[in-house]
Parts: sequence; C-alpha cells; structure tokens
Amino acid sequence: MKTTIKAALSRTLPFIVMAAAYFLYTKINKMSNPQVEAIGFSPYAIFFVGAVLSWKFNRSREFYILLILALCIASMAYLPEISGTALRGGDIYSIICMVIPLNIALFSFFKERGIISLWGSLRMALILGQCLFLFWQMESGEREWLHLLNKEVVPVNLHAVTPIPQLSVIAFVIAFAILLVRAIVHRSSSQEVSFISVLLAIFYVLHENNNPLLYSIIFAASGIVFITSIIQDSYSMAFSDELTGLPSRRALKQDMMKLGFNYAIAMLDIDFFKKFNDTYGHDTGDEVLRLVASNIKEVTGGGRAFRYGGEEFTILFPGKTISDVLPHLEELREKISKQPFTIRAKSKSKTKSPKRSSSARTSKQIYITVSIGVSQKNEKYKTTETVMKSADTALYRAKKKGRNCVSK
Ligand code: GH3
Ligand code: MG
Ligand code: MG
Repeated sequence: MKTTIKAALSRTLPFIVMAAAYFLYTKINKMSNPQVEAIGFSPYAIFFVGAVLSWKFNRSREFYILLILALCIASMAYLPEISGTALRGGDIYSIICMVIPLNIALFSFFKERGIISLWGSLRMALILGQCLFLFWQMESGEREWLHLLNKEVVPVNLHAVTPIPQLSVIAFVIAFAILLVRAIVHRSSSQEVSFISVLLAIFYVLHENNNPLLYSIIFAASGIVFITSIIQDSYSMAFSDELTGLPSRRALKQDMMKLGFNYAIAMLDIDFFKKFNDTYGHDTGDEVLRLVASNIKEVTGGGRAFRYGGEEFTILFPGKTISDVLPHLEELREKISKQPFTIRAKSKSKTKSPKRSSSARTSKQIYITVSIGVSQKNEKYKTTETVMKSADTALYRAKKKGRNCVSK
C-alpha cells in the first residue's frame, strides 16, 4: 500500500512541479525587479546543475535534452538582438517549435551509452549539426527551409487555435505518443513521465508565446523535473534489487530501524540451490530466483519481503508475534513448493554428448522448495540483530529437519 502511494507520487511529481511553476508565473507582477531578473537567469543555473547530475549519474538523455533546451532559450533571448541576421524573431520561434519535439522524440530512441563516449560524441554532433544549420540560416537568408517548417500538410486550420505551426503540432503529438508508449512499457523508471511533463509544459509555453518570463519559468521547471527524476531513479536503484525487484538489503537495514516494540522476522533460504545451478545453469537459476521472489513478495499477514543476498530472503512483520505469522509462512512455503517451474533451456550437463543435450532440451517441470526460520522480539532477543540471528538459527534447524519446512 505504502509503496503504491509512493509510486503514484513519484509519477505525479513532475506535473506538480510544472503546476507550481505556473503558479509562480501568475504571481510575477507582485515581484521586485531583482526577483524577475533572477527568474530570467534561473534556467541556465538549473540546467548547469542538471547537466552535472546527469553526467554523474550517466543519464545522457537528460544531459542532451537540457543542452538543447539551453540552446533554445538562449537563441530566443539573444539571437534577435544580433543585428545583421537574416532571421527574425518569428523564424526562431518556428525553428524552436520543431527542434524541441523532434529532439525529445529522437533522443528517446537512443540507448543509454554515456556522454563522454563514441556514442556521446555522435549525439553531440547531431546537436552541433542543428546549430550549424541555424547559423547557416542566419547568414544565408535562405528561406526555403523556413517555409517548409510553416508548411500546411493537413487541411485543418490550426492558426485560429494556436500559433504553433501545424507540422510542429504533429511533431509534438508524435513525440507525446512515443513517450506514452515508452512510459507504459518501462514502468519502473520515472524518466518517461518526466519527459512527458516537460513536453506538455513546453507545448503550453510555445502555445502561449506571450512572455519571455513564462519561458524562463517553465524551462527552469523542466530542469528541476529532470533533476528530481535522476535523483529518484538513483535512489530506487540503490534500494531495490535488480534481479528480483524486491527491496534490497540496504532497504532492509533502514526498515529494521523503524520496527517498534513488537515484531517478527523470518529468514528464507532456497533448498539445494547450488545443485540446481550446477544442473540447469546460472541463468535458469536466476529465473527461478525471480519466480520465488515474486511469491515471497506476495506474503500475507502484513509481511514485507527483502532480498537478503544470494538465494536468501528476509521478511519483516511489524507488530506481529511468531504465532501470528506462522500460518502465513506455512502458506507461503506450501505455495512455493507447489509451483511448477518449466525448464526449456537445455541442461548444462558435464558429459556433452549431443544425444543427451537434445533429449534434455525438451521442457521439463521442476519444483523448488524453501526452508524458513522465524523469530520474534522478546525478553531474550531485544534487538533487531539478535532477533534476526535467532531467525537464522531457526532456519538452520529447518534445514537440519529435512528442508521444505518452517522452524521457530
Ligand atoms: P541449502 O539447501 O543448504 O541451502 O543448499 P544450497 O545449495 O541452497 O546452499 P548454498 O548456500 O551452499 O548455495 C547457495 C547457492 O546459491 C550458491 C549459488 O550458486 C547460488 N546463488 C546465490 N546467488 C545467486 C544468484 O543471484 N543467481 C543464481 N543463479 N544463483 C545464486
Ligand atoms: Mg544459502
Ligand atoms: Mg540454499
């Protein structure tokens, strides 16, 4: 329950940041001049922080989009002032209306391959190419390309609704659809949601196109959205186990500190897992670990499961006693032992006769069992460490008793 609220909050946070930014904008006429000046400067400062963070956390997508946003806002602010350019304010606007959705869509297809790398320099070249194109436009006065940006491709009159050129509106819609699909596919990361909020907010400012300060505020807010998403993802990466998706040992340590006066702790260990790995291979072992973890995650009785390490798991039951949790652990043990696991891959047999491996390739159902030890806080075990240790001793007893059982 708590985790779903947390997840929902992390999904809505980018939109809350954007709403707050808009709220700030509505208060702008009450601000003093230095404050307004600071807002005008804020995107650059925030982009700088965002660029450093995305570099440190290896998030090239944010890094390059921040760079593009910085170039866009700087061109909007300073290019029209440069005398002798063939570009007018309106031209820069049309270019930006296309550059932003196009790049957000394009960069979402690139795999994470670092910033200072061959792939990174190719991306940098892509951005540089766009800058050169802009300069060429400024110098040559060649207007054919600009006309292309404002070309009407579908017979719908959007002018009455928005100043954003028709082609750019289409680009925004396509970029939005791409991000939406990616957000549904990659549900674990907050990255796509942050990009969606940035895309929508920038669409809104371009649509309004009335105040440079609104640009500054929304662009700065976009930087903040990227920064929070980078921090959020790095945090959840540190506290969840990559293979099973369960909270990691680090999260366990934190949650153990939060336990109150009464609690029970269970330790689980997969039976004969080494033999399993030796027979079927490490990859199949990993799959089994995932399957077992998904069962453990669903433990009833108010327990929260963690991957302790290797093929060992811990379940915390705040406010519970051994007798409260025993039936739930028994149910979990039974559920795992009755769950068939289908092995399709060929057996990793030591004697490699082709005949054997082909016969072993036919799928086969196997069953996995776990042993569980449980303990609780009481007169004898007063700290989380001692309770855990006694749960571990109980687990050892369960193994001795013949495995596939719960011991207290
Ligand atoms: P027991 O019933 O006494 O627990 O026997 P066991 O073989 O499960 O115990 P042991 O602790 O000796 O072996 C644990 C094995 O778990 C060793 C290792 O091969 C395997 N293992 C640990 N972590 C992973 C993992 O992340 N993936 C895979 N595939 N195997 C793992
Ligand atoms: Mg073990
Ligand atoms: Mg084991």
